[in-house]
Amino acid sequence: KPRVTVIGGGLAGSECAWQLVRRGIPVTLREMKPHKRSPAHKSDMFAELVCSNSLRSDNPESAIGLLHAELRALGSLVLRSADTHRVPAGDALAVEREKFSGEITQAVREHPLVEVVNGEVEHLPEGLVVVATGPLTSDALTQELERHVGQKLYFYDSIAPILSGDSIDMNIAFRQSRYGKGDGDDYLNLPMSKEEYYRFIAEVKAGQKLTPHAFEEPKYFEGCLPIEVMAERGDDTLAYGPMKPVGLMDPRTGQQAYAVVQLRMEDRAGTSWNMVGFQTRLTWGEQKRIFTTCIPGLKEAEFLRMGQIHRNTFIDSPRLLDKDLSLKSERRLFFAGQITGVEGYVESTACGALVALALSARIEGREFVPPPATTALGSLYRHVTGEAHPPDHPHQPSNVIFGLFPPLPGRVKKQDKRARYSARAQEDLATWLPSVAVSQTLQRSA
Ligand code: FAD
Repeated sequence: KPRVTVIGGGLAGSECAWQLVRRGIPVTLREMKPHKRSPAHKSDMFAELVCSNSLRSDNPESAIGLLHAELRALGSLVLRSADTHRVPAGDALAVEREKFSGEITQAVREHPLVEVVNGEVEHLPEGLVVVATGPLTSDALTQELERHVGQKLYFYDSIAPILSGDSIDMNIAFRQSRYGKGDGDDYLNLPMSKEEYYRFIAEVKAGQKLTPHAFEEPKYFEGCLPIEVMAERGDDTLAYGPMKPVGLMDPRTGQQAYAVVQLRMEDRAGTSWNMVGFQTRLTWGEQKRIFTTCIPGLKEAEFLRMGQIHRNTFIDSPRLLDKDLSLKSERRLFFAGQITGVEGYVESTACGALVALALSARIEGREFVPPPATTALGSLYRHVTGEAHPPDHPHQPSNVIFGLFPPLPGRVKKQDKRARYSARAQEDLATWLPSVAVSQTLQRSA
């Protein structure tokens, strides 16, 4: 079988390499550590956890816990090591980070089909290549990738909060597009009076913000400023920016509000909604407090994702990648991990595994069968390929969240939803798994 070069020995690269060698495909793993490190990487091991030691909830009735379970079913090396080196942390899967990375490093390094080459990759090598260099891809490789994908990659990633649709007060929100554009009712709007708006601005200005990492020089795009930066420029800046009320008429009052918070559909079914223009460095606690107490209609809001800003390197996957996660314009190049626009340790791991499955199908001349849409793996896959979102949806990094899953059929009580998502995913995963199983002979040799 042809050798695959995996660039980056992080979460995605390590898992991808492991899943490839388990299928008898030789791998050259190229990692720039210890010769060079990103500003966040400290250790010399593979699969380094750069920040928290938690792989988040292990409860299979959460989207992330379900992803854990699905990765275990795929024989994930990252999950195996996490389970072995677990530390008590409530329902979270937290690990002893040195031992966790140590076991992965040893398993990958000592596998007879793996060759490890240390040093920064500045130019893409020949042959089949998986780019798994993460959110802090080195500058030289970033420039090289820009030449191959034809677009700029280095971003301050502005992430706005996402709300669960059924937690928004529909007695206050009204559906309407500005000036009736599109279908005329693509957005949900939360109208604010003058008093409500100024109270909100005062809270945003006073609210506690996260201080950037030392290497994260805050250099924002003018079109994508955090709300607190806009609020500091003047009390009315937001009312003339993302919160402008023009072109929106509240049908209940027949009047234009002083300001409006707009919510954009995040999935086709409208189960989750993005707070338009609400990227922020407010702490998560402050976001919850300020948004639920100051924005009408959000009193009971359930946050599926909080607003965040950090340096990131990712590609516009839905438009650039093929169904097997290879670059449409250069099909020998595959992308895995956070660079595809997934967010988080486990999501990056899952993406590495998916790319290995797609690559092995390519090498063996089979068609790649993606995981069912109803599974956590499938929902992440559909986030990367864009199928989980409305057409022309701007690609933004996402954790695995139930908002990416196809809605449950019929009416389901709120308290039953998680269990139903989970049961449906487990059932559908079981029918898909045999199509990607590793043969017994290969399993023994791995
Ligand atoms: P990484 O794990 O970053 O691996 C990429 C690897 O590629 C690295 O080993 C790097 O050295 C190597 N590399 C880069 N460029 C080159 C090159 N040119 N040649 C060779 N090798 C190269 N996620 C969470 O779930 N929880 C958190 O608490 C969390 N905190 C974070 C804090 C920071 C500061 C950052 C930047 C990210 C954080 N994330 C967190 C996101 C997390 O980093 C990623 O989700 C995850 O590590 C990405 O996995 P990856 O495999 O795509 O990239």
